[in-house]
Amino acid sequence: MLDLPSPGATAPVRRVAHPYRGTAVALGSRHGKGDQLGPPFAQVLGARVLTPPDLDTDRFGAFTGEVPRTTTPREAARGKARLAMQVTGSPRGLATEASYGPLAGVGVPGHEELVLFLDEDLGIEVVEVRRRLGLPGGSLRVREHGADVDRYLTSVGWPAQAVVVRAGPGAPVAKGVTDADGLRDAIAAATRDSADGHAVLEPDLRAHRCPGRRVVLAELGGVLARRLATCCAACGAPGWGRVGVETGLPCRACGTATSSVRADRYGCARCAHAAVVPRAFDVADPRWCPVCNP
Ligand SMILES: [Zn+2]
Ligand SMILES: [Zn+2]
Repeated sequence: MLDLPSPGATAPVRRVAHPYRGTAVALGSRHGKGDQLGPPFAQVLGARVLTPPDLDTDRFGAFTGEVPRTTTPREAARGKARLAMQVTGSPRGLATEASYGPLAGVGVPGHEELVLFLDEDLGIEVVEVRRRLGLPGGSLRVREHGADVDRYLTSVGWPAQAVVVRAGPGAPVAKGVTDADGLRDAIAAATRDSADGHAVLEPDLRAHRCPGRRVVLAELGGVLARRLATCCAACGAPGWGRVGVETGLPCRACGTATSSVRADRYGCARCAHAAVVPRAFDVADPRWCPVCNP
């Protein structure tokens, strides 16, 4: 609910419902992400997240490598949201896309999850991203099911975190392996099929098989719902929020503009209304200064 300024001292405060209250939002997902994204959308916006059954979202790329992703994460998420909107006829859609590997700008391995919301009626697209350092686990090459497999399973948190088993890059996989017999069979089959007699084990990164990813999805769902609950002061469109940063925080010693962040830029998803909000620090440590510490 939004509080509007009271029109007069004696008039009661008018409360208007959020534009998404009672609406449906189509989720382009095959892997149960409605369990993480649905509750914040219901609690914060009063909107219902609908997941159409059997959506072929793997055509936008799959972790297990059968379908390489050829687009950016944002384009992939947009494609999945649009697909769910077409199938359900809802003008509003939602989808997420995860990337695992070296994080851009940091170079350290990690998980980056992007969530994208589309409203065709309003012509808005809102994106939020969260990053987490570290991966759910590496990969393990084995000839058979031995002690190293058991150590690996413990390290990834199996069976809550499922594994995939393959004979080699691009080779057919057993996905979502969470039981001992299935694992033994999958390793035996992969070593038989592989050119070098090895099976490769990796964490299954699909949301319904990856508890760490579900934690990030739930957080991100809350962040996106709260952002959509924030409406633009100029046009009233949902989705007012941080859209970027401004660098150039001056050096404390010499005043030179550094690459440190000076302020956050906020903007509307629909109109040109924007604001720059300075951060708490008004000077940068000289060690970040190109003059004092070249
Ligand atoms: Zn606006
Ligand atoms: Zn300086």
